[in-house]
Amino acid sequence: MAADAPKVTYAKQCKSLTAAKKVLPHIASVHSQVLQQVLQQLEKAFISMWEQDHGFPRFKKPGRMRSFVFPQFKECPVDRAFINLPKLGRVKCVFHRPIPDGFIVKQVRVVRKASGWYVMLTLECEACVPDALPHGHPIGIDVGLDTFVATSEGELIDRPRFFVESQHKLKLLNRDVSRKQLGSKNQQKARHKVARFYEGIGNKRKEFHISVAHHLCDNAGMVFAEELNLKGLAQGMLGKHCLDAGWGQFLSILGWVSWKRGVYFAKVDARGTSQYCPECDTHTPKDLSVRVHSCPECGYQTNRDVASGQLVRNRGLAAVGQIVKKSVEQGEETKPALKQKILEVTPRSPRYTALGG
Ligand SMILES: [Zn+2]
Repeated sequence: MAADAPKVTYAKQCKSLTAAKKVLPHIASVHSQVLQQVLQQLEKAFISMWEQDHGFPRFKKPGRMRSFVFPQFKECPVDRAFINLPKLGRVKCVFHRPIPDGFIVKQVRVVRKASGWYVMLTLECEACVPDALPHGHPIGIDVGLDTFVATSEGELIDRPRFFVESQHKLKLLNRDVSRKQLGSKNQQKARHKVARFYEGIGNKRKEFHISVAHHLCDNAGMVFAEELNLKGLAQGMLGKHCLDAGWGQFLSILGWVSWKRGVYFAKVDARGTSQYCPECDTHTPKDLSVRVHSCPECGYQTNRDVASGQLVRNRGLAAVGQIVKKSVEQGEETKPALKQKILEVTPRSPRYTALGG
């Protein structure tokens, strides 16, 4: 493409799509809105190239895209154990839970995972759900590598080593792949085994995150966490371990779970949470090897991560003080209509259940 060529826009692409359908009949065999959604994705890639200096959108090989979306439905596509998809027809599914009353299906995304094909339904309900206001018992959490989560209550939750522990098995599986003939059926099978294994690790991690999030919400009215620089951490020396812990996913799950349970959730500045005393705010510098917080001023002694959690709680409470003042001044705000992905069904493997929750 020439440097001074006119910019490719979504509208132009749609026109070329219509033209292309006449020449290439296999394109016409796909539902038109599905194709348009792909163009929208491409448009996004172009825009981020122009505006955020990202690279030129990559050409996609067959098999690169893992999902596609049906963006609109006139009537509910779900019919007992079947789902009606345009151009694909009636597909048998295993539903993990019924669609709740009052919700309508807005979108259906078909996802391919190593363990099979899944359908993700986006449901919508006309309802105003106010954000949880700060109330009740506050908890501060410190996420770390030593212990996954340390709470200001003194509770320490261990970090399961999902990926790091499976590396031996992965090595064996990958060796199988390398011993098969390139491009052969047997190599494909071996590759598939690796992919299944990775998916299993991801599922276990997610389930752990969800259960920890619920556990934290059990005894709290407010949960505070640190704002982490995840990219920086992942590139660091302990990057593998940081990614294995999956803090980013955990914090976003925690956000959703606490919203669902009516618990107030907020992030606070993470800088120096281990360098001050939570009781008297004295500066108590310590490097990573020091595992105990011991204050020379007030004599307060506790686990290092617990102390960080308590400091996070203190910072959160200070910030909440300001928010409460503001919301009283401005009057309460309500959230727009609830939009949430809450259903995931699969046509193949009924064993797979834990998502969303
Ligand atoms: Zn102190």
